[in-house]
Amino acid sequence: MKFKTFLILLLAFCVLSLVYTKIAHKDYPLKPVAFTAVQINDSFWLPRMETNRNITIPFAFRKSEETGRIANFAKAGGLIPGKFEGRRYNDSDVFKIMEGAAYSLSLHRDAKLEKYMDDLISKVAAAQEEDGYMFTTRTIDPENPAAGAGKERWSNLGSSHELYNVGHMYEAAVAYFQATGKRNFLDVALKNADYIAEVFGPEKRRGFPGHQEIEIGLVKLYRVTGDEKYLKLAKFFLDERGQEKHKKMFSDSSDFSIYNQDWYLQAHKSVTEQNEAVGHAVRATYMYSGMADVAALTGDKSYIKAMDRIWENVVSKKLYVTGGIGSRHEGEAFGDDYELPNATAYNESCAAIGNVFWNHRLFLLHGDAKYIDVLERTIYNGLLSGISLSGDLFFYPNPLESDGKYKFNQGEATRKPWFDCACCPVNFARFLPSFPGYVYAHTDDTLYVNLFVGSKGTVKFGKNSVDVSQQTDYPWDGDIKITIEPEKETEFAVHIRIPGWARNVPVPSDLYSFLNPSKESVTLKVNSETVELEMDKGFARIRRRWKRGDIIELAIPTPVQRTIANENVKDALGKVALQRGPLVYCFEEADNKGGVLNRRLADNLEFDVEFKPDLLGGINILKAKSRDKTPGLVAIPYYAWSHRGIGEMTVWIPREKI
Ligand SMILES: [Zn+2]
Repeated sequence: MKFKTFLILLLAFCVLSLVYTKIAHKDYPLKPVAFTAVQINDSFWLPRMETNRNITIPFAFRKSEETGRIANFAKAGGLIPGKFEGRRYNDSDVFKIMEGAAYSLSLHRDAKLEKYMDDLISKVAAAQEEDGYMFTTRTIDPENPAAGAGKERWSNLGSSHELYNVGHMYEAAVAYFQATGKRNFLDVALKNADYIAEVFGPEKRRGFPGHQEIEIGLVKLYRVTGDEKYLKLAKFFLDERGQEKHKKMFSDSSDFSIYNQDWYLQAHKSVTEQNEAVGHAVRATYMYSGMADVAALTGDKSYIKAMDRIWENVVSKKLYVTGGIGSRHEGEAFGDDYELPNATAYNESCAAIGNVFWNHRLFLLHGDAKYIDVLERTIYNGLLSGISLSGDLFFYPNPLESDGKYKFNQGEATRKPWFDCACCPVNFARFLPSFPGYVYAHTDDTLYVNLFVGSKGTVKFGKNSVDVSQQTDYPWDGDIKITIEPEKETEFAVHIRIPGWARNVPVPSDLYSFLNPSKESVTLKVNSETVELEMDKGFARIRRRWKRGDIIELAIPTPVQRTIANENVKDALGKVALQRGPLVYCFEEADNKGGVLNRRLADNLEFDVEFKPDLLGGINILKAKSRDKTPGLVAIPYYAWSHRGIGEMTVWIPREKI
């Protein structure tokens, strides 16, 4: 080869490498501070995380043993004889608990749990077919798989959940690899994903899963391996939705139920043409989360535009005041605009968790606090309501009103230990240990304080490591002390979220507003000196040279706020809901003799706020002052209802206008 040719080739190689590096390094502009780099030490979240570790995870594994979910893997692997038990999607429940157990192991080494996981992983590995396929119901009895699984592999993609299940396996396997460094589970997941990548693709089998999830899992495999094949496959599955050639996937069926409608599984249009949140709410939020990941990693702006439109639709027309989404029982689906009934609100716990996944990703994409406002509203209200304080009783739907008779929770008017479809309990098992990952985020020179939680986190700015800690009694109190401790004195920005509710904007839309906007304002001090609020996308921005021991003090007034809904929400017409800090309150019969559904609340009544350390894990109650001798109404945080017997409850209460 001539020297000149060599030089040209070398130059071409360098240019291509640069281009490749640029593509490969595209990602969210903001990074979360990983859950493993944040220690929670408060009295609100830490007890819940401990309950999850000590009660929920072992409880969910035990339930999975009792119901044959775990035995299905052993049966598929030929380790024990027997038939498949349960539903076609039961494999996913086990994977979700395993994901939660792996996160828990990242935070707390536990040899017994790790041994349990390794034994379980060997059963899962045994259940994998020679070519990588994993779906215990078909492997156990290929001729007679569970109802809805389809006669052959991939023959009923719309509802088989074959691809959905393994998406949860990928998430669990990556979590276990990151927790322990062991490849036993990851290798099973990769073998499966490699097989699926051989089967599906633009020049191969076309189609998409009826229940989204594999997209999120594939992105995690891509992140851990760097192999673009997984990212491309995630994008392929998203882009297949809504394509004309797949219409027969629905029209060929004799099943005309909602479960076989293209809009129900977000396949009525291509994902980039969608404007409105429709169909099954959990599928939708998992899809939007997958789209956000793919958009961040590929820079695809058409995905981002579609998500922004859908998000506007949700926050302005389809979001409950509790942060819940998916108002219809039928199809576990989004309703029409402003269709937000109270007693029959579905608000699946999984949809609340999915809403958090999605809003967190949009925050990482856009750096705007409005997404954290929605996330915070959801976490403290419509998400936390789904799990009992004891960690072993759950809501599948989360209504905003109960007469104590309507059995909204799959046959009960109160919490239940388990469900035939156990998606919600196991989603809590994996969500709670990952909670610390939502508190802080950063860019190369900005630290974001998103949530107010007693905690200590560590963030790296290049070679400099910065510790950030918070002391606060949030959500009971709005005083937050933040200590910044850089290893070396250095200049960077700290962005502290000023919650929308503290700026009289309960949600980033006109869906809800406060009847009595607070006139008190937030104050911010650095080393005891008051600083002006310099606002940037919902954050107070403080840029300076930070040194060890610098202290930021944030004081957020927490008056009792009366929320009213947009007049198009007919189920909240003439009613008011109470909020204090991030918490939405409800009236429960246990505190209000004679029930709450026949009561009204005068607009001018004031409230006493009283901390009750022994009530429901320690809560602030709101006691309405009484004008006569009758006892005033008492409200408790919505998340804490249904712990003291079955009775009436309501979030919205009719106003008595003065
Ligand atoms: Zn669920």
